Amino acid sequence: MASDSTMQQRIAEKLTPQLLSMQAYHVPDRKGLIKLDAMENPYNWPPEMVDEWLDCLRQCTVNRYPDAGAAELKQRLRQIDGVADNLDLLLGNGSDELILLLLMAVAKPGATVLAPTPAFVMYKQIADSLGITFIDVPLRSDDFGLDMPAMRLAIEQHQPSVIFLAYPNNPTGNLFSHSDMLEILQCAPGIVVSDEAYAPFADASMLFVQDTYPSLLVMRTVSKLGLAGLRLGYLIGHPAWIQQLDKIRLPYNINTLTQVSAEFALSKQSVFDQQSRQIKRDREQLIEALNTLGRCHAFPSSANFVLFHVDGIPVTEVFESLKDNAILVKNLNTSHPLTRNCLRVTVGTSEQNKLFLDNLRMILEV
Ligand SMILES: *Cc1c(COP(=O)(O)O)cnc(C)c1O
Repeated sequence: MASDSTMQQRIAEKLTPQLLSMQAYHVPDRKGLIKLDAMENPYNWPPEMVDEWLDCLRQCTVNRYPDAGAAELKQRLRQIDGVADNLDLLLGNGSDELILLLLMAVAKPGATVLAPTPAFVMYKQIADSLGITFIDVPLRSDDFGLDMPAMRLAIEQHQPSVIFLAYPNNPTGNLFSHSDMLEILQCAPGIVVSDEAYAPFADASMLFVQDTYPSLLVMRTVSKLGLAGLRLGYLIGHPAWIQQLDKIRLPYNINTLTQVSAEFALSKQSVFDQQSRQIKRDREQLIEALNTLGRCHAFPSSANFVLFHVDGIPVTEVFESLKDNAILVKNLNTSHPLTRNCLRVTVGTSEQNKLFLDNLRMILEV
């Protein structure tokens, strides 16, 4: 066996400098905690639905490779989202994989990708891993809207291959103005991704302008809807882009169990619609309750989470105290200057939200 120092030397020699300088994406241990950190749907399925699902799974042939084109699942997704016939779909193992495929496809020397920040962390994480320069343009500090003069300038200067716009944005929760989105589409020299991970909780989408802007790719996922464990995301766009991207997709990236389970679950749309409506109602109550706590300011949200700022006490103390009481939220204090002293909480069940608020009230009162 090679000695430790020989191993370290080999690692340093053979791996890319980008990889060596990266930090792993940290997923906190969730054992025994009420998880309000990762935008998961808190609701289970009705027992009869679980039985019906298990019947579907019984017919799966796991000795065979999956359907490489996932034709039936794609058909279902098309129907649910009302995707026009002249657009194509690319499926990914979560939208995270689609971000990876997109960035692999543009990873030429000198390529840049741009996103307004704070943004979903995987844009930068994956760009870094591929040695693509990530250009961040801070959002406006008052309302987390797009800083259009700064965006225009950065686009003009860097000519980004891809611009990511999360619509609604994570971690801020707001929807960017539709006219700002259109203006970016007009001046972008490459691909623009409208990342619509939170579409089930927002009454807005860029799907319907894809005819006018063929370089617009709409990215969606079933994760936040309530199927995070299946790992399924999809990109909707002009066939000319999708056909190229499909060349670097691994042939069986959507496994049989995911295909069958997602198809089944999406045939029960009313169950998820009802859950989403409940989550949206609870979100508004949560925002109102946070804003009456006095030392908290909750920002408006079109997603299934709420970003809030805490005054007069270091937010990391609040985060740790919540965790000591078995409630896990996301601490954004050091992630970006605009989210200093901010926490992000996922909308849970009514009981979970109440427990969270009761604990927070107690922590803020001492
Ligand atoms: C959660 C999230 C994703 C990732 O979704 P997966 O399909 O679970 O990989 C993508 N974009 C944004 C903005 C998200 O918040």
